[in-house]
Amino acid sequence: MYSKKLNNFIYMIDLKPVDIENLVCSYVLKAAKVVIIESGPLTSVENLLAGLKEIGIKNEQVDYLAVSHVHADHAGGAGVLLRYLPNAKLLVHPGGAPHLVNPKKLWTQTKQVLGKVAEMYGEVEPVPKERIITVTDEMTISLGESVELKVLDTPGHASHELSFYENTARGIFTGDTAGIYLDKFDVVIPTTPPLFYLEKASASISRLIEMAPKRLYYSHFGPADDAVKKLKAYAAQLKLWGEIIFDGMKNGEEFATIYERILEKDASMKQVADFIDNHVVFREIKTRDIEGFIKYFKKYFFENL
Ligand SMILES: [Zn+2]
Repeated sequence: MYSKKLNNFIYMIDLKPVDIENLVCSYVLKAAKVVIIESGPLTSVENLLAGLKEIGIKNEQVDYLAVSHVHADHAGGAGVLLRYLPNAKLLVHPGGAPHLVNPKKLWTQTKQVLGKVAEMYGEVEPVPKERIITVTDEMTISLGESVELKVLDTPGHASHELSFYENTARGIFTGDTAGIYLDKFDVVIPTTPPLFYLEKASASISRLIEMAPKRLYYSHFGPADDAVKKLKAYAAQLKLWGEIIFDGMKNGEEFATIYERILEKDASMKQVADFIDNHVVFREIKTRDIEGFIKYFKKYFFENL
């Protein structure tokens, strides 16, 4: 079983790339029109199609495939998935679209940033230009039956990141804008790989808070209530990490020391530290996240380092 019904028209599909559960999911909204949010990676396209079948949606019924951003775990499978969805258009940020049409550079960067994890997700496959609709801030996609998705431009995790606000349940599909939700622990952890941009990420979180959402639908992983509380906590967490890492850089500290200081001060992170250390994908995250902050500070604050 891959799919789970969340309310009368929203479903989630656990994509389980290389059999890893609770890592990355797609959402399916089934109103008069059907939209899938996140293709997920290449290695889980078959699972997504199996999930659709469970829900009772035929491939031809899908009108849109929306992706939050073009990283391999969110959009890597889009090119292949669209071959199975003959009537679907891909909705993507204008800044991300060229990388999906010609993903060569994106794939090279993915391998650099993710290392072995990149292979678990599989290569980013090209998407034919004519299948793409670029969407921008405040655009509304009407799905019929009073359901609308509003596009929110929420950069920070990536320069071309979108979130999607759904009006009837007042939920936001956050991509990676609101961090990674570890549902088992009800804990959010940062996702700030290079090229992370702290100020933009914080502004984007504020933007989500302004929408006064009731639910968040994390791509990693699943739905969560207490949306505003979670968003505020995430903003505070990024600020804390920023302060610790900035200080660490000034004092010439090693990664390990910086991470120790994070664990001292970030109770959420401490709570899940063992889980992360033993998780085949998440264990890489701490290094990548810290690196994202370091590159950001080097670029904007430490010009001569
Ligand atoms: Zn992601």
